[in-house]
Amino acid sequence: MNIQVSRRRFLQLAGAGAAATSIAAFGYGEAEAEVAAHVRNFKLAKSTETRNTCTYCSVACGIIMYSRGDLTKGEQANIFHIEGDAEHPTNRGTLCPKGAALLDMVHSKTRTLYPQVRKPGSDKFERISWDEALDRITRLMKDDRDKNIIERNAAGVTVNRWTTTGFLAASATTNETAWETYKVVRSTGIVAFDNQARV
Ligand code: SF4
Repeated sequence: MNIQVSRRRFLQLAGAGAAATSIAAFGYGEAEAEVAAHVRNFKLAKSTETRNTCTYCSVACGIIMYSRGDLTKGEQANIFHIEGDAEHPTNRGTLCPKGAALLDMVHSKTRTLYPQVRKPGSDKFERISWDEALDRITRLMKDDRDKNIIERNAAGVTVNRWTTTGFLAASATTNETAWETYKVVRSTGIVAFDNQARV
């Protein structure tokens, strides 16, 4: 028979078993059942595990987010615990204090959850859809590039420099995504290209 027991569950059962056995050894046989009855239910039982990357810095530590709520039944997923991913090659389960406090960032009331725009002349931000945001960014970038691209330098050499738009990339990413982002941004001619990790 093959029984699957997670690392945490194993430690929990082992701890409860050791306590119960010790009490029984002192002659309190019935106490064993009492101890077993009061072991707290496994906190992560019936939760959904989702692997992700810490959002904070370029170390890009692996995390596991635990949530409750069945999306297939229309329920809202609620993340209630986050810990380091022991199988991730970068951090092997560890997190720095910022990463260990990720749950507070997830549930922060001031966290930006959707795109917003402050139109020219306006003093406030307005919520827009993701489609609107992507269309707007694409349109503005294309117009600006068409207008300001520098195709050749003073000596007539092709340079294709686009100096009037900048690009800020996120650091919580894989090497492959970072490589692709770099190639796409540089291929447009953008010169001002920086990363969240340096901000
Ligand atoms: S846990 Fe700390 S070191 Fe790791 S990515 Fe997050 S902020 Fe960076």
